[in-house]
Amino acid sequence: MSEVILELKNLKKYFPLPGGQSVKAVDGVSLKLFKGETLGLVGESGCGKSTIAYTVVGMYGATEGEIIYKGTNLAQKGYKRNLQQKGEIQIVFQDPGSSLNSRRNVGKSLELPLKIHTKLNKQERQDRIDELLELVGLPVDFKKRMPRNIGGGERQLVSVARALGSNPEFIILDEPTSALDVSVQAKVISTLIHLQEKLGLSYLFITHDLSLMRNVATRVAILYLGRLCELAPTAEFFHRPLHPYTQMLLSSIPVATDEEEKVKPAQIISEGEIPSPVNVPSGCTFHTRCRDCMDICKVEVPVMIEIEPSHYVCCHKFKEGEPIAAEVE
Ligand code: SF4
Repeated sequence: MSEVILELKNLKKYFPLPGGQSVKAVDGVSLKLFKGETLGLVGESGCGKSTIAYTVVGMYGATEGEIIYKGTNLAQKGYKRNLQQKGEIQIVFQDPGSSLNSRRNVGKSLELPLKIHTKLNKQERQDRIDELLELVGLPVDFKKRMPRNIGGGERQLVSVARALGSNPEFIILDEPTSALDVSVQAKVISTLIHLQEKLGLSYLFITHDLSLMRNVATRVAILYLGRLCELAPTAEFFHRPLHPYTQMLLSSIPVATDEEEKVKPAQIISEGEIPSPVNVPSGCTFHTRCRDCMDICKVEVPVMIEIEPSHYVCCHKFKEGEPIAAEVE
């Protein structure tokens, strides 16, 4: 695999509550993101995936842990990111309607990051705006349009163009298509893939839609109650899911081909509700819903181990160096 562009080490983000308790939104996440890849970060609502995004871009301060970008720990206490670091790590939000200023036309929205992050003069900024619109497949006369007068997919493409204004190396895509009609989702996804190939971008793609990751992600990571359960290259992930939670998620998604149907886990009915992140279960946080729960799972937190090259799983069913049980083959 290529160069590491970003590394999270034991990242934690707790939100304190009155009375001394806290919401453990992110609770010890470690992962690496490689240059040019798309890492799909998948989980149910409230699992902490967007909190990871907001902490990485600096909207939230980390409670503990490190965010290593080009050798610098961006999460160290009191550290202020410089303009270059802010420009190189960008985010595209789920709802393009609320992330674009409704009183500014598209051109003005695209010009703002150019004023902040570049030394371009007025004419050069206009030329760059045209270039950005062309990059995302929109006509240049879009710059005169107001956000309310363009469609949801087009608004999201404008958001992508705006993120590109500061020449980022790494973009976090926070559910970029989930607020869009199915008919325009494909256009946004294919534009993102095209941009990645053309500009060498790296993506952290946050979604609850596991099936979307099959054709988009280089690797897939599964998050549950603020902790990673499993991380693997996409083909391996869909061919041989190991963690009981991953198997539960995969068992409920539709498949398109007979080949996929053969390797899809049998339907697993979800047991119980997701526990509150204020009172996370002891031991393995998934033990209250896991059909394979053992005594050890209730008391001992499992650790992430590499079970196959680049395939990591966090579950007491698996021990480093031991062959994987036949039932999950
Ligand atoms: Fe289930 Fe135990 Fe594995 Fe957790 S550690 S997923 S409870 S088998």
